Amino acid sequence: MGFFLRGIRLPVKKASTFDSVETPLPQRVILPLRQYIGELSKPTVSVGDKVKVGQLIGSPDGEGALPLHATISGKVVDIKEHLDHKGSSVPSIIIEADGTDSWIEAPKAEEEDISCLDPPEILRRIQGAGVVLKGLLPIPLGSDLAPPDQPKTYLALNGREVVKRIDTLLVTALDPEPSLGVNRYLARIHNSELAPGIAALKATTGAERTLFVVDRNHRPCPQLEEMAGADEQEATGILLLDGGRFPLGLPVPLLKAALGRQVPLPYGHPRDVGVALYDMDTVISVGRSVRQQIPQVETLITVGGGALSKRGIVRIRIGTPIDTLIESLGGLTDDPAKIILGGPLMGMAHYELGVPITKDIGALFVLSRDEAGISGHYRQCINCGLCVRVCPVNLVPGMLSLYCAKDRFDVAQTQGLFTCIECGCCDYVCPSHRPLVHLFRHAKHQLMEAIS
Ligand code: SF4
Ligand code: SF4
Repeated sequence: MGFFLRGIRLPVKKASTFDSVETPLPQRVILPLRQYIGELSKPTVSVGDKVKVGQLIGSPDGEGALPLHATISGKVVDIKEHLDHKGSSVPSIIIEADGTDSWIEAPKAEEEDISCLDPPEILRRIQGAGVVLKGLLPIPLGSDLAPPDQPKTYLALNGREVVKRIDTLLVTALDPEPSLGVNRYLARIHNSELAPGIAALKATTGAERTLFVVDRNHRPCPQLEEMAGADEQEATGILLLDGGRFPLGLPVPLLKAALGRQVPLPYGHPRDVGVALYDMDTVISVGRSVRQQIPQVETLITVGGGALSKRGIVRIRIGTPIDTLIESLGGLTDDPAKIILGGPLMGMAHYELGVPITKDIGALFVLSRDEAGISGHYRQCINCGLCVRVCPVNLVPGMLSLYCAKDRFDVAQTQGLFTCIECGCCDYVCPSHRPLVHLFRHAKHQLMEAIS
C-alpha cells in the first residue's frame, strides 16, 4: 500500500460548516511574552500605561524571540506569570479594554508592488510583525525562512552539512485535520494579500514555481483558479486532493501525495526535499505583514464541537481567554465532556478556561459526551493490528506503546518513536481505546528532558 494511502477516511464536511462567525472584541486580553518555541520578549510597558492596538509592548530579547504587540487598546493592568495552553507559567501582559479599539497608527497604505523589496527587508518586516508558524513546533516564521542568496545549511543523515535549494512553494488549503477549516475557508474567499504573500515567499525562498493544494470536495474561489491560469510561464498550478483523508494535511504525507517526495524521518523538514510548505493562513499573514506592515494582533481559528452554540471560523484578537471566547459564541449548549485546543484528533485536552488563545493555536473544540466517547478506562492491546494498517509512517504503534507504558523509552526510540508524526490515526481505530499518542508524547518528552 502506498505511504500516503494509509491513514483514515473521515466524513467530508460541507463548506458551510466553515463559514465565518462574528464575535465582539474582548474586554481583557492576556498576552504571554512567548507564544512560540524561542526566547521571551522583554516588556516595554509598565502597569498603568495606556496602549493602542498594534503598539509594541514586548521587544525581542534573545535568539528566536519575537516582538509582541497590544491586541486591544486600553490600560496595562498587570504584568505577571500566567498559565499558557501548554500548562507553562509564562510572564504575560494583561490589558483591559477602553472600548475605543484605537490603533497606534493607521495601517500603512498598501504598497503597489513589493517586487522592489529585497529578501532581507521582507524578512525584517515578517519578523517585525511577530508572525508565528502554527504547527506541532510553533516557531517564528522568520526563523524558517532564509534569503536564497544566503541558504541555510542542514546536517544530512550521514552528518555532512548540505545546502538544499528550494524549487517549489507549496501553498496548502488543506487543514491539519478534516474537522478544521481555516485554510479551506480562506481558499473559498478572495483575499488581496494572497498574491503579495506568495511573491514575498518566493523572493525569500528562491522557489521558482508555486503549487496550490486544494480540497477536491470544496471548490476554491475563482481568483485562485485565475491566478493559476494567468501564469504564462506555467509556473503556478492547482492540485486537487481529498481533504477527507487524514492525515493528508500534515507535511510528510502531503509532500508524498502532492509531489511524490519523501521527507526524511525522523527530524526531516520539507526544505530537505526542496519545498517551502506554507498554508493559506500563513501566506496571507505574510502578505499583510510585508505589504501593509500590520503586526499580528488577531488570528483565525476553527471553533467546533457539539457543546458549542456556534461553530465555524472565528477571527479573534490574540490573548482572548478561552472562557471569553466561549461566552461570545453564545455559551455552551450541553454538558461539555472535553475541551480541546487543536483538532479532535491531534489537539490537547484542557481544563483551565482562563488560558488565552495565542498565535500558535489553530482551533478550539468543545465536545459533548457523545462526541468525546469517554469510556473511563482503556484495555490491554489485543494485537488486532488495526493501528499498523493505518499508520502513515509504517510504525507498529501497539508495540511502541507497550515500550512507552513500561518506561522503556530507549527501546521505543530504536523502534521509531521520533518518526511518529502524532497524527492520532492509531488512537482513532484502536478497539481497546489505548491512549497511544499520549504515551508517545510522554516518552518523547522524557527523552528530550534527559538530553537537555
Ligand atoms: S504511531 Fe504516530 S504516526 Fe503512526 S498512526 Fe500513531 S500517531 Fe500516527
Ligand atoms: S489497535 Fe489497539 S488493540 Fe489493536 S494492535 Fe493496535 S494498540 Fe493493540
